Amino acid sequence: MVKDNFGRPVTGLRISVTDECNLNCFYCHHEGCPASSHEMTADEIGKIIRVATEFGIRKIKLTGGEPLLRKDIVGVVAAAARPSIDEVSMTTNGILLAGVAHELAEAGLTRVNISLDTLDPKTFHRITGNGSISNVFAGIDAAIDAGLKPVKLNMVLLADLNEHEVKTMMTYASKRGIILQIIELLDTNGGVFPAYHRGLDDIEQGLRSQAVAVRTRRSMQARKKYILQRGEVEVVRPMHNSKFCMHCTRLRLTPDGYLKPCLMRNDNLVDLLSPISTGDLETARKAFAEAIARREPYFKGVPREICVHARV
Ligand code: SAM
Repeated sequence: MVKDNFGRPVTGLRISVTDECNLNCFYCHHEGCPASSHEMTADEIGKIIRVATEFGIRKIKLTGGEPLLRKDIVGVVAAAARPSIDEVSMTTNGILLAGVAHELAEAGLTRVNISLDTLDPKTFHRITGNGSISNVFAGIDAAIDAGLKPVKLNMVLLADLNEHEVKTMMTYASKRGIILQIIELLDTNGGVFPAYHRGLDDIEQGLRSQAVAVRTRRSMQARKKYILQRGEVEVVRPMHNSKFCMHCTRLRLTPDGYLKPCLMRNDNLVDLLSPISTGDLETARKAFAEAIARREPYFKGVPREICVHARV
């Protein structure tokens, strides 16, 4: 297992497989990626993951944009599901999931996070700009039916919009035996954050008082998991939380093949696709080592300027 200069093991690769999205969520951080000029092929992604395994990477997360917009997404999953990879997961808005969940599971997808901030069609439309919530519900049911486990719902908490829906979302998730993940809004694009940021303190306090057990998931940026009488809820609190960064074990990859050492920065990317596409594995290994060397905690307990919105 390779560790960075801060003693953090690097065990996960979060790959943004496309810039394209079929929704337009007003708060979206676009995985912190600058606009991409092209997309890596499934074959290139497979080769990159092969090099990644030499550095101890064992978990692959496919994200985007919307990963299911790629026509070859089943092939991408199959390319990622190498023998030395323990887990291939995906974060999706679920709109297209119903039609492909079984194929994805067969190709080697182990689990899925489905982004759903609300159960209310009107609020859904206000947040996403378009798309039909009923497709997301169908996608959730298909993911469960396909045996993807666990299925998690990603709910970004937004002041005045969905903060009153935590309980109903918990009930929806627990009825289906899936996990609700409540996510603090990350400050990424100017005006949105002051208007919609909603702290999670009181919600966590409520969860703690109801929980039959509380676990800290060290491999997942020290996030807390609350085991309730009915269901499980995870809480993701990145903002100015030094533990979040100290427990970060992942590298990122942009759709056009740049290694990205931190969600919050675009000034330290490393080109990986060029050596991969010419078959120069030695330079590809050097690129990986360089990206790991460039990793440093972003939130060190002291608030600093956010630069993730720098999309060019
Ligand atoms: N299109 C896919 C989806 O909707 O899940 C994958 C990409 S989306 C950028 C990945 C996750 O990031 C989603 O769960 C989304 O809710 C979350 N996200 C986006 N912007 C965020 C922000 N500003 N703060 C916290 N989470 C955010």
